[in-house]
Amino acid sequence: AVTLAATLAAASGCSSTRDEDSSSSGGGSSNLVGIAMPTKSLERWNNDGAYLDELLKKAGYETSLQYADNKVDQQITQIQNMINQNPKVLVIASIDGTALGPVLDKAAQQNIKVIAYDRLINSTKNVDYYATFDNYQVGKLQGEFIVDKLGLKDGKGPFNLEPFSGSSDDNNAKFFFSGAWDVLKPYVDSGKLVIPSGKKLSSNDDWKNVSIDGWTSQKAQSEMDNRLNSYYTGGKKVDVVLSPNDSLALGIEQSLESQGYKPGTDWPLITGQDADLANVKNILADKQSMTVWKDTRTLGEQVSKMTDQIIKGETVETNDTTTYNNGVKVVPSYLLPPVVVTKDDVKTKLVESGFYTADKLGL
Ligand code: BGC
Repeated sequence: AVTLAATLAAASGCSSTRDEDSSSSGGGSSNLVGIAMPTKSLERWNNDGAYLDELLKKAGYETSLQYADNKVDQQITQIQNMINQNPKVLVIASIDGTALGPVLDKAAQQNIKVIAYDRLINSTKNVDYYATFDNYQVGKLQGEFIVDKLGLKDGKGPFNLEPFSGSSDDNNAKFFFSGAWDVLKPYVDSGKLVIPSGKKLSSNDDWKNVSIDGWTSQKAQSEMDNRLNSYYTGGKKVDVVLSPNDSLALGIEQSLESQGYKPGTDWPLITGQDADLANVKNILADKQSMTVWKDTRTLGEQVSKMTDQIIKGETVETNDTTTYNNGVKVVPSYLLPPVVVTKDDVKTKLVESGFYTADKLGL
């Protein structure tokens, strides 16, 4: 057996001794990096996956890129299959941040390092790093935008607000909501923002009362239809919608349209996140007021860099070691800054940076 192993190692050009640094540099014997993405149904994840894949290949790694159709079991199977190929590092944008403990136990047994991508992975010690945009800041920017545009600091109001939050299994969703609600709640308490649908949000912990599971446009649309049909009778109008992201905003905008709201007249303020193509077009058409843009290229670059640092056994760059407690440990994180985009700066921010071509936006 010894002879056979030595022969195989010699033939494949591999050393049969384990990398001495393997405890810090990722244990897989291959040159492989596994990338697990949640779904192809949302534009941003397609861009995220494709770009990270391209960067890692350029850096000389092999990759396995998988999308899980927003199905938790499918994602677990995909991660298990990647582990079977013994990668050095797994980069995971989780669907349910609490469901990966058992499969990551197996990764840890093989000393495979794990980077949580965009969404934190909870309730396991086997997540080494987290790279994301500042999720609390995303919500804060949405809340501040609403306060500014409505003139709430000048005492204007009351205004009718309909709040939404993201998927209840996504760790980011509570950060988005908390950032926004810390800004908006004082105005709800003072009566300057009124919630006609009566959703109970007396603290940030109540965010699941307005969740849209799976982040789908369809569910957001039917929820908005329900609220408008039930609570906006007799000419009552909604003035502002807190939407945590663009996929929800799109559904809400379709609902407003079908209820006869008209851009430029009674269309409410509405927030978003991601700068998805359809939403940027809606911003240009006065159907969405803003989006919080997260330049996913910068996240890809950061994660590619961190992966490379792990594999080379170098110090891994992080800039936040206090915020992201996953229930078992504080995960060392790298937070990137999100940016507000409105109709006025679509060109300067999204086109001049090369995120979209003018052509694609019909400009
Ligand atoms: C991401 C958002 C995205 C949402 C839905 C969140 O975890 O941070 O950018 O809009 O998931 O996919």
